[in-house]
Amino acid sequence: MAAPADPQRIVIENCAIATVDADDTEYASGYVVVAGNKIESIGAGKAPEGLANVVRRVDGTGHLVTPGLINTHHHFYQWITRGLATDHNLFQWLTALYPTWARIDEQMVKAAAQGSLGMMARGGVTTAMDHHYVFPKDSGDLSGAIIGAASDMGVRFTLARGSMDRSEKDGGLPPDFAVESLEGALAATEETVKKHHDASFDAMTQVAVAPCSPFSVSTELMKQGAELARRLGVRLHTHGSETVEEEKFCHELFGMGPTDYFESTGWLGDDVWMAHCVHMNDSDIAAFARTGTGVAHCPSSNARLAAGIARVPDMLKAGVPVGLGVDGTASNESGELHTELRNALLINRLGAHREAALNARQALRLGTFGGAQVLGRATQIGSLEPGKLADLVLWKIDGIGHSSIADPVTAIVFGAAAPVTLSLVNGKPVVENGRLLNVDEDAVARSARDEAQRLARIAAEA
Ligand SMILES: [Zn+2]
Repeated sequence: MAAPADPQRIVIENCAIATVDADDTEYASGYVVVAGNKIESIGAGKAPEGLANVVRRVDGTGHLVTPGLINTHHHFYQWITRGLATDHNLFQWLTALYPTWARIDEQMVKAAAQGSLGMMARGGVTTAMDHHYVFPKDSGDLSGAIIGAASDMGVRFTLARGSMDRSEKDGGLPPDFAVESLEGALAATEETVKKHHDASFDAMTQVAVAPCSPFSVSTELMKQGAELARRLGVRLHTHGSETVEEEKFCHELFGMGPTDYFESTGWLGDDVWMAHCVHMNDSDIAAFARTGTGVAHCPSSNARLAAGIARVPDMLKAGVPVGLGVDGTASNESGELHTELRNALLINRLGAHREAALNARQALRLGTFGGAQVLGRATQIGSLEPGKLADLVLWKIDGIGHSSIADPVTAIVFGAAAPVTLSLVNGKPVVENGRLLNVDEDAVARSARDEAQRLARIAAEA
């Protein structure tokens, strides 16, 4: 029998490196050797001599290498409804947009997914996620379109298959025609997991069970959704404790606050992560820490909708896993994750802990290893260590935006969004010199605009 083929190697040298490993190891000038889809070695100075099968050498002079960024909360379809309801709080904003969102179809969702993914990949995201929960009747294979777009882009991806079954007639916010039935939502979610979820170490596609939020989902769907995820061995995701209005809604409808409601429906656990978690008291944070429930912190969206400041320093201190999220681009038009590193740091310093809230290294950790933790992939991605998957980014820090900033990590967190010279996902290039390699950016921009206009037309006629 022939020996297994020696994997192809990519050698990156002469760059600063922030590994984001458990010790926050950094190298002022170091190397990374990628073999196949994994990191083979990493260290200070030059790469080892005599490596076989090197197909590419990258001179990383003037760059910082970090793990690829990991986005933990998004709604791709909102890419084609950006710039609407710009001065609203969450419930006003939802009520304004649901009637339009309820008209989406497969072609629109595909264009929106391409736009969302393209913007994130260009900005150093190597693992994306989409929480998709609007499935109008006869709108086509929306999950398939989203997963196809991620695969075309070349990024690692988690689809959080969402659902809503509490419409206006049941005291919820979405219009009646925008929701699924309890049975329909559960069956479609199970089918999506069975068709697309890959549990392997180097999976490019995973699926989570993700009813939308307490105010758009029945208690039965929350409970049975949790049971379904555990039966199938996949993760659970939803929105939690985003606004004061939501807290009030939970008290009125369920006679308890959001965290107690989640606990009563089986929604606290180390297989669960929730977006936002802004309005959490000490016992809520303790419950998340005790159960290992994760948080997707979305600072720009929380600011855009005036939701408040999540208590990230307190969560980290308690041991809650925290990642970063763009959130849907109808509440964060930029759609970039690297700016969330900066916003997480700055917004948290406006909270109770002031200048001690977060530092640059902690912000980078939220956007990388923290994201891997909440997606359940901390052994595979999120830090640069031998044996982990080769998802990494070369940030250019010798240009006008960054060359005079004293420290490389400070440069990419406190400074402007740094240009991406190269990003690798699973050992393969996805971005080179700021451009997407696998899709035509201009075509993506055109089709997103066309589909946004088509959706606006259909919504206006309805
Ligand atoms: Zn969201």
